[in-house]
Amino acid sequence: MLKAYKYRIYPTREQQVLMNKTFGCTRYVYNTCLYLRKWLWERRQTISAFDLIKQLADAKKEISWLREPDSQALNATILNMDKAYQHFFNHGYGFPKYKKRGGHQSFQCPGNTREVNWDQSTLTIPKIADIPIVLSRPFEGKIKTVTISMTPTGKYFASILVDNERKLPGKPRVDENLTLGIDLGLKDFAITSSGLKIPAPRLLRQKIDRLNVLQRRASHHHKGSGKRKKANLRVAIQHELIVNQRNHYLDFLHKLSTHLVCENQATTLVVENLAVKNMVKNHHLALSISDAGWGEFVRQLEYKCDWYGKNLIRIDRFSPSSKTCSGCGHVLDELDLSVRVWSCPGCSEIHDRDINAAKNIRKMGLQTGCGTSKEPVEQRRLRRAKKRESIQVPTSI
Ligand SMILES: [Zn+2]
Repeated sequence: MLKAYKYRIYPTREQQVLMNKTFGCTRYVYNTCLYLRKWLWERRQTISAFDLIKQLADAKKEISWLREPDSQALNATILNMDKAYQHFFNHGYGFPKYKKRGGHQSFQCPGNTREVNWDQSTLTIPKIADIPIVLSRPFEGKIKTVTISMTPTGKYFASILVDNERKLPGKPRVDENLTLGIDLGLKDFAITSSGLKIPAPRLLRQKIDRLNVLQRRASHHHKGSGKRKKANLRVAIQHELIVNQRNHYLDFLHKLSTHLVCENQATTLVVENLAVKNMVKNHHLALSISDAGWGEFVRQLEYKCDWYGKNLIRIDRFSPSSKTCSGCGHVLDELDLSVRVWSCPGCSEIHDRDINAAKNIRKMGLQTGCGTSKEPVEQRRLRRAKKRESIQVPTSI
């Protein structure tokens, strides 16, 4: 099982110099290789990552500054570029972006000389030893990769991917009595079929609005001018504020997903397919949905269910589930958004609108069963192929 841990690091001046050189070199290698691949592709040719790495070795004979940083970090950046390109080419993702000077910088250290010294609180990576690190939480296992990054405001971080060599537990059979439906909403972030309502935390709207204002202001100044640089720094700081607040929000999502997966009798959870959920026509509503973090939440549920041996079923909601009685299946002709509680004309049961929806999700999940809930592979391939056709490759950098 792989787990990632992120720590703040405080490199010394000398360490910073070598790190900044490595950021620069990886950026140069990434952008050059990406440009080369695109150039060849336009001429109906291709080049493998393996050949790019060989060419890099040749280039190093002539360009001395490419020899300074860890060679493994440069090779890793070629592999990353290759992966991004493959994703674009085969799976319909966007064309990889060129790395920018002054943006978020990073490089990976896949080599073997990586070590955390818990007593001294230091991190050692190839060519840079004993970097001061704040080890805010412990980890156990083998280090797989270390990624060093720097924010535009000059803070350094190390992300450590660790293999704790534990196997994932098996999944139980779907048991009707131990199945929980979860409806995701805006006012209440989650509503369960057992009647639990979790209110949504305050959203990031205010700070995002401010970011837009600052970005607009920065664009009014001339490129390269002192005022532009200052304005850009303000944008970066505001961005960091949002990221920090998002961390609190992520914390909320983590607590909730852990609660639902671990501290719950249920062995099977049912959620809606978000592709269907996101088809919201109202623009304002759609905006707040992207803030609401449903995608991240379902992602967390998915891997936590894998970790703790629970089932996660996704359903495609086509039937109007808030209008259907979860008891007898009677479908109302109309149910106004303002009506929160209604009584069923079929079985005269009284329903809370949202909890009834969660109960219907549970019911549909049980009908769908496990394994058939994900989008079939063929269908996904087709959808991505269609998307790829609509993407145009940028013609200049
Ligand atoms: Zn009914």
